[in-house]
Amino acid sequence: MGQSGATSPTVARVLRGELCSGCGLCASVAGPAIRMEQPAPGYARPAQSGGVTPEAERIIAASCPGAVVAPWTGVAPEIHPYWGPWRRVLTGHATDETVRFEGSSGGAISGLLIHALETGLIDRVVHVAAAEGDPTRNATVVSRTAAEIVRRAGSRYTASSPLAGLEAELAAGGAFAVVGKPCDVSALRQLALRDPRVGRHVKVVLSFFCGGIPSHDGVRRILKTMGVAFEDVRAFRFRGRGWPGDCVAETDTGEGRMSYPDSWGGHLSKEVQFRCKICPDAVGGAADIACADAWYGDDDGYPAFDEQEGRSLIVSRTEAGERLLSAALGAGRLDAEPVPVNEIDAMQPSQARRKRLVLARTLALPLALQPRPRMAGLKVLEAARRAPLVEALRNFVGTLRRTMLGRRSRL
Ligand SMILES: Cc1cc2nc3c(=O)[nH]c(=O)nc-3n(C[C@H](O)[C@H](O)[C@H](O)COP(=O)(O)OP(=O)(O)OC[C@H]3O[C@@H](n4cnc5c(N)ncnc54)[C@H](O)[C@@H]3O)c2cc1C
Ligand code: SF4
Ligand code: SF4
Repeated sequence: MGQSGATSPTVARVLRGELCSGCGLCASVAGPAIRMEQPAPGYARPAQSGGVTPEAERIIAASCPGAVVAPWTGVAPEIHPYWGPWRRVLTGHATDETVRFEGSSGGAISGLLIHALETGLIDRVVHVAAAEGDPTRNATVVSRTAAEIVRRAGSRYTASSPLAGLEAELAAGGAFAVVGKPCDVSALRQLALRDPRVGRHVKVVLSFFCGGIPSHDGVRRILKTMGVAFEDVRAFRFRGRGWPGDCVAETDTGEGRMSYPDSWGGHLSKEVQFRCKICPDAVGGAADIACADAWYGDDDGYPAFDEQEGRSLIVSRTEAGERLLSAALGAGRLDAEPVPVNEIDAMQPSQARRKRLVLARTLALPLALQPRPRMAGLKVLEAARRAPLVEALRNFVGTLRRTMLGRRSRL
């Protein structure tokens, strides 16, 4: 889209309110006027250097997940207040041992993508992998073969903006899948309401349950604790190769290694951006299929068992998701069995807790004269009814106090 007019008021307001998730949609829609950068402490944020057209601004205002979150209504007949719209809930894994091993949990996302690619449903996948030249950061990549998908499997707990290059992909046409954080998927679905190319070319949208995006400082803290110099890192993975798998920094002379509870619990979780702490859909409710760790964890969400073969939770949400899942199961690409939806409560206690506290936290924001995203149709009130009153009050007061003190990141 052309460059003219004023800078985007939506982007400015979202940045001021610390509501940006870093999805990159505004950069895609606004063209050269907005570029994604990673200012300290290392979250993906839009930098505005020119004006956006009124049409681009209208699209950003209606799609930016810092301003509005895609509703769950109309996606599936069943909607759980924590776990979102669902048609089928399964636990399982990719049957290919390499895919399962390389995958973050059971390699389900990669298995589904490979099936979609090899059956001709899509010709490519837009997803996220370690950046060439700085493997501790992320880049958006396009995979056209099963080998590329497997090479890019695994969770990357640092800033990602998979929508920043979407305009070029839509212009290129064809049929592709997008894998993104739930907020990326929300932005994509909202964009689809205004840009018919999304429905024409994006055939599958996959997501995962998301505990939040830590700043890049989290990676630096891990490296420091490992005793590995940042400049020496040749490859960096956050987990995977086993379940949950260690965080590993490879250098020319060896490697640094850290367990998942230490890397996520001790470092990364302390660096999560504010937007994630009020996230009304961190379970990929707008995706065709969302996957997660099918582990039975403690109250903080850490697996209550040692390393083992990976297992994914697989939630199909839309008709398109159900078709792909059935086809992948039928072809023997995935091995999975059904579980009752309420069983997810035991696997994802920290996700359940955050969802029931979203209302209390977001009610505090206008009192501190701060904006909040619109979040209708996401069962926020219904989830809040499950929160113990004391916990809700504590979170309301804590958010208000920290927001007024300018210390929301400590929530
Ligand atoms: C930031 C983050 C937070 C998460 N929080 C939780 C949680 O709270 N609970 C939970 O159960 N699971 C969480 N996960 C998801 C979990 O780690 C697995 O991704 C999920 O179980 C799917 O595993 P898989 O083996 O099927 O995926 P894989 O087959 O390994 O595929 C993973 C896919 O995700 C894409 N991807 C990786 N990192 C990113 C990123 N930063 N942004 C966009 N796309 C990415 C990859 O490109 C790949 O296509 C999180 C993942 C991330 C990236
Ligand atoms: S959330 Fe996405 S669309 Fe909104 S300001 Fe941030 S990068 Fe742009
Ligand atoms: S917690 Fe929500 S806002 Fe944060 S990265 Fe995940 S989906 Fe996006």
